[in-house]
Amino acid sequence: MTDLSTCPKCDSEEFVATAFGLTRGRQIGITTGLVKKVTPSVYVCCDCGYLEMWVDSKEDLQEIRNYYLDKPAVSKETVKI
Ligand SMILES: [Zn+2]
Repeated sequence: MTDLSTCPKCDSEEFVATAFGLTRGRQIGITTGLVKKVTPSVYVCCDCGYLEMWVDSKEDLQEIRNYYLDKPAVSKETVKI
């Protein structure tokens, strides 16, 4: 991850991570198996409303790497929200 304490759009310092990610009925995630998914952190600017998502942990990145790069024949459907 990068330094996400300042909004990259308006330079506000009110750029915060949400505790539960992005939701619309259920939590958004990156599928890494039949019943597995990685939930990214969602950062929101409280001044301009800009938001972006990051996968913060190296373990989660490795899980995504294993699923998408090491198994090219596996279906890559995304979780629909
Ligand atoms: Zn902003």
